[in-house]
Amino acid sequence: MNTTLPGAPAFHYQDGQLMVEQLRLSDLAREHGTPLFVYSKASMLAALAAYQAGFAGRKSQICYAMKANSSLAVLQVFARAGCGFDIVSIGELARVQAAGGDVAKVIFSGVGKTRAEMRSALHAGIGCFNVESEAEIDVLNEVALQEGLRAPISIRVNPNVDPKTHPYISTGLKGNKFGIAHERTLATYQRAAQLPGLKVVGIDCHIGSQITEEAPYLDALDRMLDLVEAIAASGIALEHIDFGGGLGIQYQAEEPPRADALWAKLLQKIDARGLQNHTLMIEPGRSLVGNAGVCLTEVLFMKPGEQKNFCIVDAAMNDLPRPAMYQAFHGIVPLVQTTDSAPRLLCDVVGPVCESGDWIGKDRNLAARAGDVLAVMSAGAYCMSMSSNYNSRPRPAEVLVDGASATLIRPREQISDLFRGETLAA
Ligand SMILES: *Cc1c(COP(=O)(O)O)cnc(C)c1O
Repeated sequence: MNTTLPGAPAFHYQDGQLMVEQLRLSDLAREHGTPLFVYSKASMLAALAAYQAGFAGRKSQICYAMKANSSLAVLQVFARAGCGFDIVSIGELARVQAAGGDVAKVIFSGVGKTRAEMRSALHAGIGCFNVESEAEIDVLNEVALQEGLRAPISIRVNPNVDPKTHPYISTGLKGNKFGIAHERTLATYQRAAQLPGLKVVGIDCHIGSQITEEAPYLDALDRMLDLVEAIAASGIALEHIDFGGGLGIQYQAEEPPRADALWAKLLQKIDARGLQNHTLMIEPGRSLVGNAGVCLTEVLFMKPGEQKNFCIVDAAMNDLPRPAMYQAFHGIVPLVQTTDSAPRLLCDVVGPVCESGDWIGKDRNLAARAGDVLAVMSAGAYCMSMSSNYNSRPRPAEVLVDGASATLIRPREQISDLFRGETLAA
């Protein structure tokens, strides 16, 4: 078998064994059990380095969009590498603080921030609120004045471009709930600049996720830079331009642009307009962690059928929600390489949850037997952070690998964790 694995070179076969950096995944599965998430630190830092190379010599700030994977040790890797964080709730701010992140480098996105969240984030001293509606501007101004503070803000523009991705993860179209319409942006800046509780510092946009073409980015940047010029002409000085996240990764055959190559093109546009004095910010999530993780899962039963064959594994939609939510594809490969002559079965890989939507992969050609362990590839983003306890299933453990050393960064949940804090009625 000669497959190129997403996440290579950190994930590769050596002597028939699937490795993560210098360790055998089968050893980690034996030690920690399954289902198990395993992340490669080198792979995360390599993904970050592509952005850093793109920004070399520029005033810039990379804010990791932590909803992609918010485990503390993952945040710590990015905090130590100098990243800020893009948060969408006050719970995420608490995680940044617990992981040793710099609160001054935190930006707060999201269409529905509560007053309590605004208050906490103001007192913590975050870098910027990315506001998403005209109503939010008034409420944030009010809250800041009550607290005797001034809220640094950026307005999220909805540029109305089609990112050509799954409708659930497209965010920069007119019909999406995100941002302020392009046509309303200038008037909104003029109003915000008058409000004493606010300090206008930037502009931002984020057009979607798992974007694999460069055209939507180039179009969105043009529209955004038109606005930056119009805002400057109206006498409002912006310090930063935040271009969001959304760059896709390879799950199957996608060929997303490389971060450094994409940024070379985007920077040309910024320079052509003489706007290079602004600090550039970005909010990548998936592209920093997606290919850096796998989920290991054991085959429980093979179940051949008349119409379909099933490979039933111990991971399910509560651990890996992307296939059920977005019909997403994840590569599924054995931890121990099989020979080309091993008998194969065309099957759907499914979990134990009582839903027909509980599948991990469809129509896969696998030489799997009960007891084998499989790796679900590209599981570093939007898997553990979206996992749940549905069907009262404890969530998996997580391991972070750095070279030849592995750290258990989250133990497997225990059954008693499932109903901690619940009480019976009188
Ligand atoms: C989710 C999100 C991101 C990150 O998106 P990725 O596709 O994971 O890079 C960035 N900014 C905002 C506002 C988001 O909601």
